[in-house]
Parts: sequence; structure tokens; C-alpha cells
Amino acid sequence: MARQTPLNLVRNIGIMAHIDAGKTTTTERILYYTGKSHKIGEVHHGATEMDWMTQEKERGITITSAATTCFWSLDDTKHRINIIDTPGHVDFTMEVERSLRVLDGAVAVFDSVAGVEPQSETVWRQANRYKVPRIAFVNKMDRVGADYDNTIGMMRDRLRANPLRMQMPIGAEADFVGVVDLIAMKAIIWNNEELGASFEVTDIPADMAQEAQGHREAIIEALADTDEDLMMMYLEGEEISADALHNALRAATLAFEVVPVFCGSAFKNKGVQPLLDAVVRYLPAPVDVPAVEGIDAKHQKKNEDAEPQMVQREADDDEPFAALAFKIMTDPYVGHLTFFRVYSGSLKAGTQVYNPTKGKRERIGRILQMHANKREEIDMVYAGDIAAAVGLKVTTTGDTLCDEGAQIILENMDFPDPVIRITVEPMTQADQGKLTEALEKLTREDPSFQVNVDEETGQTLIAGQGELHLEIIVDRLLREFKVQAHVGKPMVAYREAIRKEATHTEEYKRQVAGKGMFAEVKLKLEPQERGAGIAFENKVDPEVIPQEFVDAVEIGVRETLAGGVVAGYSLVDVKATLIGGSQSLVDSSEMAFKICGAMACRQAVARANPTILEPVMEVEVVTPEESMGDVISDLNSRRGQVQGMTARAGAQVITAHVPLKAMFGYSTDLRSRTKGRANHSMQFSHYDAVEESVAKEMIGGILEFMLNQE
Ligand code: GDP
Repeated sequence: MARQTPLNLVRNIGIMAHIDAGKTTTTERILYYTGKSHKIGEVHHGATEMDWMTQEKERGITITSAATTCFWSLDDTKHRINIIDTPGHVDFTMEVERSLRVLDGAVAVFDSVAGVEPQSETVWRQANRYKVPRIAFVNKMDRVGADYDNTIGMMRDRLRANPLRMQMPIGAEADFVGVVDLIAMKAIIWNNEELGASFEVTDIPADMAQEAQGHREAIIEALADTDEDLMMMYLEGEEISADALHNALRAATLAFEVVPVFCGSAFKNKGVQPLLDAVVRYLPAPVDVPAVEGIDAKHQKKNEDAEPQMVQREADDDEPFAALAFKIMTDPYVGHLTFFRVYSGSLKAGTQVYNPTKGKRERIGRILQMHANKREEIDMVYAGDIAAAVGLKVTTTGDTLCDEGAQIILENMDFPDPVIRITVEPMTQADQGKLTEALEKLTREDPSFQVNVDEETGQTLIAGQGELHLEIIVDRLLREFKVQAHVGKPMVAYREAIRKEATHTEEYKRQVAGKGMFAEVKLKLEPQERGAGIAFENKVDPEVIPQEFVDAVEIGVRETLAGGVVAGYSLVDVKATLIGGSQSLVDSSEMAFKICGAMACRQAVARANPTILEPVMEVEVVTPEESMGDVISDLNSRRGQVQGMTARAGAQVITAHVPLKAMFGYSTDLRSRTKGRANHSMQFSHYDAVEESVAKEMIGGILEFMLNQE
């Protein structure tokens, strides 16, 4: 079967938003208007089509990045739009990252009352990093306090974007009826608020005409800065056609010079069709984005120590096959579904494909394309496609799939470190088995959470990005995988750090089963800047300690740092330098040096004034004026530091840095404190040292013991 849609008519987009801004509702409407979905599920009824998992329905939030295909015609040309669903909650940053990795363009949805919210800022910055061109949709124009201009202003101030007003709202709040299209210079009025309501294109209301003219000029001026032809036409006072403007807008959007901004009310069914036109007009096709780059996997295998050799793949069906697996879901009907984005080449269902990340061949069974309300089995996938494969066994999120003869490893994704963890204790032996199996599956789906076994207690610990992230995982363990288990309370994932330089010399000398073991290691530890990570350096001559023993010391040191020294949390931001030591030609071995390196490291940490770091969150609370004092004093009592206060649409917005530990149970508390009228959001900000008294309580005894142990 040949390719259905020419590559230049494909759009792979994401819809990104702060939770509650209306991403789900907007997506629903898009699926409705593109004709693939025939009934509409309202979010508050818990029946939307994108939110597949029960937990999401109950919570009304979108967690999984399902990819959905739909079609939209503009000027009689049919375009294929693949929507990659991105979550709005920052507990799921990882999900956002992996969807940004595979999409070409995005629609940023804002709530016109709240404007640009902190989590939108986070996602916006991620999209900058992944170089994703964007258009914006200012939603909820029907709400009291809706403010299109304010949202545009916030995009400029907070996001440092260059937003371009593409429409003017007609009527405000409950009387919002339509928009002025500033390119066509027409008014679009929806006849009522019903779903599928018809709209009329009419003249711009007389009292808005002059202002509309001014806004249109502003668009042309902004574009003239980026487009010489347009500049000439503008300077010579020529009439500039809508097509010329569309072309210039597309080029400027793809070049990150402007962000076209639209408005509407998804809930009241207004503004979605022009938004779809804009997706097609201004967002990139796979051929408009730079060729994907990756490491030449074969070259790498042959020359492990060499600099990686980069290769590129153009978005073209005739290039060798290259795809990225970005999401794994366990589906109750078909089992394991691996969502992947094809960058180049094509692949037939039922054939073999190579996974260079794992170094294994895989057989793709069926290939499915997801639509809003059905799955379609397809025979072939081509460059630019997004689809799901059934039958892949070893592939995990982030792996590349490619042609075995032309191997490439596409850049993998960064996984943030978990800040919170919880214990899970299975009730019976059978549950233990089920738990292990379930956790294995879940980590394949979501590499942003970690599973550890506490060596001392034998307990299973799972660590994630936030309370909600863990709650969802636990929920799935109990419900989907039917594991019976006691689940502990969420605990903060602390870190250990050192505060001064320390050097320690350790000699390791044993007789084991009649054989001698010997190593001597002199190790220096120095604190590094926050976020610098772990570094290891060797300053000893290979005549004194040969390289293989140095490597063994490094392993011993790294393992010790990862496992933690004074409280069982991993040590961060340390530089370790091997500055001396000796070997015995008879008794030294890699094992002896590894153990000796570990021991030297432990002792050096104890002498380097160790402390405990805790995750600090950036918290935003939106509260009615009258509860403000109460909310602030509560934040202070949680060791919070208020960073700022601003007024927004009749409410106060408080931002603060608060240690994560003090934020447990905050939702419930805030609700009762403000009778449910305030809400909050938070995201990880940085790690900071805990108070001295707390550190002392956590590590004092152990430290004293270690220091007295010579
Ligand atoms: P998401 O969290 O970004 O996916 O947001 P949802 O689509 O779930 O919407 C959050 C809430 O806002 C729901 O109760 C929606 O019904 C409501 N909502 C969405 N769009 C609009 C809108 O245009 N106007 C109004 N008044 N409410 C909306």
C-alpha cells in the first residue's frame, strides 16, 4: 500500500497546557470537527476519548501520551494531523519530554483568566529546548475575567515569546460569540453554543473595524522585520494578500520568530475550526524540520572509545528506516503496544526490525494507527508517521528502531531524578512475584520512576516525580496488576552532600582462604557546585597503580557514592581524585582495589562535613484575597519562603519555595483552610541543605561512629 498522505501534508503536533487550561476539551473538539469522533465526552463526566486509563478518568487529568490520527481539509486539500497527547501536570514532565521529542509542532493552550501559569512556563522552556515551533490558543474566553490581551502580555513577559495577535474576540465573557480574523479581515460568528454549531463569516462589526486595522498593521510590521519581500511591499504601501501573509507567518513561526495567537472557547464550541486551519497553515510538516541526527551504531560498536560518529536521516521514504519508540502501553486487548515515530524510510508489518540501543533484532507483528474511536490495522508505515507496534519484546521507551544494514541510535531522552519514594510490601509470596513482574512492566513504560530494594530491610522502594506520580503507579499496581500490598507513606528522596575537602588513606590487607589481598588508596574528595554530578580523576602514575586497578577504585568509589554513606541516600556533586596509594605485586587484585576504594571513600565522606539535601519545590497558590494572610502564614510554618505575590482576576497568586517534605497533604489542608476556593500547583525547583538540627538528627550518630572507627 502506498503512502496515503504526501509528507508535506502531514502535521505531527502536541497540545500542551497547564492542567485545567482545557487541553482535553480542545483535543476532543478537534477530534469531533475532524470527523473521526462522533460523540463528545465531556471531561467532567469522565468519558473523554483520549484519557484511556481509569485513573485518568477519575482524576480528570491526562497522563498517557496517546497518539491520535485525524484529517482536516483546508482549501480542498486534505491534511493528516497526528496528535500526540501531552500531560499538563508536572509530575509527568517525563511524558511531556518524550512527546516533545517526537512531535514537530505544538499548540499551547492557555486559560484566558489565569494566563500563563508556572507549569506552562516549564513546558514552554522544554519546547524551546526541543526546538518545537508553536501557535497559541487562548481558551475559556467565555469565562468571567477572560482576558486575551493580558494572556498575550504574559506570553511576552513570562515566556519571552513574540506573540502575534491573530484574532480579536467579539463579545466578552458570557457574550463571547466569535472572533475577528485579522488576516482575512472578516468576522466569524458562531450561531449558538451547541456542539457542531454552524458559523457565519461576515463583515467586521463597525465599532471594531478601526482597531482591527491597527492590529493587522502590527502583524504586517512584525512580519516585515522577518521577510524582505514583505518589507518592500509594506514600504511601498502595496496591498498585501492574505496568502502572502500566511506564507510569511508560516516561515516566521518555523523560524521561532513569532507565535501566532488565537482565541476561543473549546467548551462552548467556538474558535476550534480556525485553530485547525492555523495548525495546517503555520505548523511544520516533517519535511520542514531539520533532518534527525543520531550516532552511527555500527561504527560505535567497532570503535568503542572513539568519538561517536554522527549520521543524519532525511524525512524521506527512500532513506533507510529509522524510528524512535517513545511510549509503551499495556493494553488490555492487544497486550503490549509500542508507540513509535518514523523519521525516515518505511517498514512493513510482520517483518524484522533492528533495535541498535539493545543490539537485538525484533519482529514487528501488527502495526496499529489510533483514531479517536477506533484502531486501524495498517500494513506499512512511512517517514513522518506515528503508529503503535504490537509484538516488540525488548524495546523500551527511548530506544531506536532501524534498518540493520544502516544502524543509527537517535538521541535518547533525559530522565529527571525522582524526588519522592514509597515502600511497597507484598502481602504474600505470590504477590511478591506479581509485584516484581508488574514493576518490570511499569518501568519499561515509564523510565522516570525507579525501583530499589533497601538492602537492610529487604523492602521494595519505588521512587517518582511527585505524590501524584506515585499514587498513579500504586493505583495501577493494585488494580491493573492485582498485587495485594501494604503501601507506605510517601517519603522525600533526600541526597547526601559534602561541605569541605577531605583526604583519606586506606590500607586494605587481608588473608582470604590462604591468599593475601592488598591495596592502598589515598583519595581526595571535594564538594562541587549543585548539579555538577560526580567526577573521578586519577593523578597516580601507572607504574605505581596500573590502570586496571585505578578502574577498580573508580567503581568502588562510584558505587559507594551512589549508595550513600551516612544516611543511605546517594551522594551528589562530589569530585573524587585518586592521589596516591600502592600495590603489592603478589597480593593486589581488582577486587582488593575496589573494596579499598570504597572504604577510603566512606571514610573521606565522614571527614568532609557531610550533610543532607532535600528537594525544594516551587509552589504557586491562587487564593481569594480574604484567605491570603492565612495561606501565607501556613506556608511560613511549612518552612516556605514567599517569592512573590500578584493579583490576578480577583484572586491573589502567591509563589513560594517550600521543602517537599513540608508539602505532604497540602491539597487537603489548603482545601479546608480556604473552603475549597484556593488551588495550588508545584514543581521541583532545586536541592537545598536541610536545617542543621535536622541533619544532625538524621546522621549525627552514624557520623560519630564512623569518625571514631580508625
Ligand atoms: P486539561 O486539564 O487541560 O485537559 O483541561 P480540561 O479540558 O479537562 O478542562 C478543565 C475544565 O475546564 C473542565 O471542567 C472543562 O469543562 C473546562 N473548560 C475547558 N474549556 C473551557 C472553556 O472554553 N470554557 C469554560 N468555561 N470551561 C472550559
